[in-house]
Amino acid sequence: RAKADGRGIARVFVEEMERLVRERREMEVALQTAWREKQFFLLYQPIVEAESGRVAGFEALLRWQHPERGLVNPTSFIPIAEETGLILPLGAWVLAEACAAATTWPEDLFVSVNLSPVQFRGAEAFRQVRNALESSGLAPSRLEVEITESTLLQEGPMVRATLEQFSEEGITVALDDFGTGYSSLGYLRTLSIGRIKMDRSFIDQVETSPQSLAIVRAVVGLARTLGLRCTAEGVETEGQRRLLTAEGCSHLQGYLLGRPGSAEEALRRTRTSAA
Ligand code: C2E
Ligand code: MG
Ligand code: MG
Ligand code: MG
Repeated sequence: RAKADGRGIARVFVEEMERLVRERREMEVALQTAWREKQFFLLYQPIVEAESGRVAGFEALLRWQHPERGLVNPTSFIPIAEETGLILPLGAWVLAEACAAATTWPEDLFVSVNLSPVQFRGAEAFRQVRNALESSGLAPSRLEVEITESTLLQEGPMVRATLEQFSEEGITVALDDFGTGYSSLGYLRTLSIGRIKMDRSFIDQVETSPQSLAIVRAVVGLARTLGLRCTAEGVETEGQRRLLTAEGCSHLQGYLLGRPGSAEEALRRTRTSAA
């Protein structure tokens, strides 16, 4: 009996593995099709000056409109695009598309683009950024690139040199999801970083948890002392907005200030901003 059960469990396990492999393969094929058929598009979420309420720029956020699955979120397809290498042409397209959109906005607004660690292997990130700026004609000072702590962890000298080149050209490097990774604070001192984006998980509880408030205070203070801009991600309530502004956080982003919207919506928002 025990032996028979064991074989049964093994069979279920193998079937489950086969199912996962099949689904994974289907997803890879679907992503290739999506790329060929141009099923990707960008949404733009406003980043607002805390003190004035003025829109300072927009973060470009990738979306996949699948004919049957509907709207697919980046967290479920970007890891696969990274493993298959699709993220390279896809990331180049995101940069070009976002820079082109920003040229239609008032000149004091920036556009912020998320870069994958994969784009930093080789000199891809630098080439893609330069191409996007050249083809759009966008001033480098109007581009921000968002990297995560996982990018900093991967390859030392390459990433460092690329970030230095970005900042020499006037492109701001933002450290995304700050506080969730494993990187050391030393990065802030030795790398060319111009902005910290405080992860949503700290903002979530800033009103209710003294620990979260203490962390937010420390990060805002650190940013100020180091002369970095600081964006709070995921601001959803008026209370959070007030508190973060009082603490001296320079920029706010979140559903309270505006949900990610189409390029047309972004353009409209630039006109109705408090500027
Ligand atoms: P992220 O860069 O940290 O972007 C912020 C995420 O938080 C976005 O999710 C945004 O829609 C969401 N968000 C903004 N405000 C709020 C809020 O008030 N409440 C809540 N609950 N969520 C809020 P999204 O668009 O699903 O993107 C998820 C992640 O996917 C991004 O996190 C980024 O890491 C990645 N991603 C998005 N677009 C790209 C891209 O073009 N390239 C790469 N490599 N990664 C991308
Ligand atoms: Mg981001
Ligand atoms: Mg983020
Ligand atoms: Mg985040």
